[in-house]
Amino acid sequence: MTEDLFLDLRHVRKEFGAFTALRDIDLAIRKGEFVCFLGPSGCGKTTLLRIIAGLEVQTSGEVWQGGVDISRLPPAQRDYGIVFQSYALFPNLTVADNVAYGLVNRKTPRAEIARRVSELVKLVGLPGSEGKYPAQLSGGQQQRIALARALATSPSLLLLDEPLSALDALERVRLRQEIRALQQKVGVTTIMVTHDQEEALSVADRIVVMNHGAIEQVGTPMEIYREPASPFVADFVGKVNTIAVRVRSGAMHFGTLSLPCDGPDRDARIYLRPEDVLARPINEGDAHVFDARIEKIEFLGSYCHVKVAAPALDANTLTVYLSLNFLSEQSLEVGSPLKLKLLPERIKVF
Ligand code: ATP
Repeated sequence: MTEDLFLDLRHVRKEFGAFTALRDIDLAIRKGEFVCFLGPSGCGKTTLLRIIAGLEVQTSGEVWQGGVDISRLPPAQRDYGIVFQSYALFPNLTVADNVAYGLVNRKTPRAEIARRVSELVKLVGLPGSEGKYPAQLSGGQQQRIALARALATSPSLLLLDEPLSALDALERVRLRQEIRALQQKVGVTTIMVTHDQEEALSVADRIVVMNHGAIEQVGTPMEIYREPASPFVADFVGKVNTIAVRVRSGAMHFGTLSLPCDGPDRDARIYLRPEDVLARPINEGDAHVFDARIEKIEFLGSYCHVKVAAPALDANTLTVYLSLNFLSEQSLEVGSPLKLKLLPERIKVF
């Protein structure tokens, strides 16, 4: 990789007794990028973050930073900032003393500490909070201070372990935007662990999708969403419809539709996002059109998640997104028939 390579994980493996938590992880992280480790509970993302932090040592494999093997370097010497899920602030210290913690340890001059603390609390949007204690702050405010504390020593890498998961939905969205803006302002290379796909899609430069201790795919949010490398990724990231198809002589057949398909004869499944099934525009003579019937409407405001039965596609049900305006213009309700159209170029076959 090029000179902007920051961290390089080579064949990292982690065993806890007979259990293998990570198998053969290869991953390169570039300077300044925001990477999310995304995957279901137990897939190994926290273990991988802890190995990078030096809080856990891999069973085999290496962690390289800037051309140096740091596999055995203790956490304190890695000079990384870490924010955990629970607000790990010192409850008996003020905000100022919490933020100053790493700087005091480094014997930074007092005037410099005071200047830096006030700069950091401003940076995380809490100027004037220096004299408060953690218990006087909301969860989101505590995480902002934890972030300020992690950034105080200008770390080369910021590690965030599910920093938003203890917050309510609104605060979670607000803080993830702030974290992203802050990261771009400071330019610090950042790795965030999350099991929330929307969170990863909205903040990351690149997402590492993990499953059962292995990497399923690494890519930009758009690549992960639009070009999933496996059924697992397609399923885990975003909503998806799956339909069983028969591939015979260069075409896949499902119900009344047929589409060209490479490869040998086989039974396969196609994966199609709800937004790639359209209710309009549909014109006379359009290809890939099929009949469906509305089974359920989940009202979400300006648009609805609509479950349709599509016997014409051999599929039990599909989910499509329809606007409230469209539903009311067409007087559509549960039981109504409607025509839908597939976007064949968006179909993934596995
Ligand atoms: P979560 O989102 O639930 O934290 P995760 O993807 O971060 O999940 P890890 O915490 O990395 O998963 O754990 C991966 C697997 O390793 C889990 O099955 C976990 O039980 C196991 N594990 C983690 N730490 C230890 C340990 N110290 N001893 C034994 N097993 C462990």
